[in-house]
Amino acid sequence: MKNLSPRQREIIKLVQEKKDISIEDLRLALQISQATAYREIQELSQMGLVAKIPGGISQVETTSTRCVQCRGETNARTTFIIEQTDGKKLSACCSHCGMMALANNSNVSTAMTVDFIYGKMLNVSQAWYALNSSVTLCCSPSILSFSNREDATRFTLGFGAR
Ligand SMILES: [Zn+2]
Ligand SMILES: [Zn+2]
Repeated sequence: MKNLSPRQREIIKLVQEKKDISIEDLRLALQISQATAYREIQELSQMGLVAKIPGGISQVETTSTRCVQCRGETNARTTFIIEQTDGKKLSACCSHCGMMALANNSNVSTAMTVDFIYGKMLNVSQAWYALNSSVTLCCSPSILSFSNREDATRFTLGFGAR
């Protein structure tokens, strides 16, 4: 964790202790305004350190930070999570590796990916993908995930996919 303010560390500690916490409780615990609470939550969730839930935040499932496929670092922006039928969770660095890991795994219960624009988790079967976009954040050919077709299409066109 880099560049976190003492307050942000405090928020993460609270979330880890309680698993989830409402904005109101957070506000009271830290004696901060609602606007500040929202801003901190926004920042932390963008960094992938907390997950937003209705009215508050919750702990992010911390799994291995290494990609199951290429052993590279996983990235909150492009992460891909496979949950096996035995309850074990595997992380991949991006949809590219995630797809390959899925193809090699016969015990998949669910698989989740992250919407590239909004940063929220979505079921792999409900995601739209932009293939080979010129935005290569991770492995090549890049595969970016989106929660709707319009975003995927716009991204593909706008960023010069071939
Ligand atoms: Zn990988
Ligand atoms: Zn990757």
